[in-house]
Amino acid sequence: MLRSLVDKLEKEERLSGAEFERLIAGRTPELAGYVFEKARKARERYYGKKVFIRGLIEFTNYCRNNCLYCGLRRDNRAAERYRLTEQEILECCAEGHALGFRTFVLQGGEDPFFADELLCRIIRSIKKDFPDCAVTLSLGERDAESYQRFFDAGADRYLLRHETADEEHYARLHPPSQSPGERKRCLFSLKDIGYQVGCGFMVGSPYQTPKHLARDMLFMQDLEPHMVGIGPFIPHHATPFAREPAGTLELTLFMLGLTRLMLPSVLLPSTTALATIDPKGRELGILAGANVVMPNLSPPGVREKYLLYDNKATTGAESAQAVRELKEVMKALGYSVVVDRGDFVPPKSQPERPNESGLKSQPEPQPGSQPELRPKSS
Ligand code: SF4
Repeated sequence: MLRSLVDKLEKEERLSGAEFERLIAGRTPELAGYVFEKARKARERYYGKKVFIRGLIEFTNYCRNNCLYCGLRRDNRAAERYRLTEQEILECCAEGHALGFRTFVLQGGEDPFFADELLCRIIRSIKKDFPDCAVTLSLGERDAESYQRFFDAGADRYLLRHETADEEHYARLHPPSQSPGERKRCLFSLKDIGYQVGCGFMVGSPYQTPKHLARDMLFMQDLEPHMVGIGPFIPHHATPFAREPAGTLELTLFMLGLTRLMLPSVLLPSTTALATIDPKGRELGILAGANVVMPNLSPPGVREKYLLYDNKATTGAESAQAVRELKEVMKALGYSVVVDRGDFVPPKSQPERPNESGLKSQPEPQPGSQPELRPKSS
């Protein structure tokens, strides 16, 4: 019975909330195997056996927010804070470019020190020095004008996890100053500007039920993101959720597989959090339908300080060594790490999808068409 729902998801690329909930609550290892097999076929239809790598540059761990699950939250006075300079960021990019990276992900907490002007200068410098590379931003919530400025400066993509699409659940994970509506508005606004947009959520976060996960799937049906980041919740010792149990590898993989079936051409990372809860997590993520890996290009000296959760799978190893190992691991699975920007490929067949939120988005950019979407001044 549940297999027929998987078949329906594969064929129609959507299900109702109740159907998602039944699949998630009733999953078995056999059903998961069935999902993963179909998920691998779907990703190979669009991306073959390619694995895209993104060079992650964690450039600031200051954050004005206080998300209850995060080790970088403002109230964690024990966190050792740092900011990379523009020069240091460019050095990370130079090292990454030589290693074959063609996407750089600038990730940080919500740090007002990095005002629009400074960020635009950094984006322009990266695009000037590495014109064959995509720049992805992951800086949290900003106003639409700021997002537009970054896009005009050359940024191509934006990652902003929605964390949970359920309002009540969101309120249990965040202080009252942060609103789920605002987060969703940011995502639609980024899409309207023309970014390749990534949302995402935690699996196994405190108070989460299958119904919440079903809501996440419905929200993504509505948003139609180009990228989705899904990782298990992992507690951090200096947060209010220090004693909460972590999310499981098993459910995270299942959600990756369902996401691949619903959004077959999505760019789907096998996350560091997955590698943190299981030494084989990264490989299992690829086998569940993921097609992106994001090795860390931050200077080794700061990697230990960017701790959203405990025991992060981080290494002080040279980036070159990490990439070599990654290539070997992927090769053993039958996949290959490629030197490529790894842009989003639009779905081949797009079933009629009403936008349930009523918020309108522009047509999706075609690969290679991003520059034309920009004003000439960029
Ligand atoms: S999850 Fe992001 S916004 Fe929230 S406290 Fe951590 S770094 Fe800041």
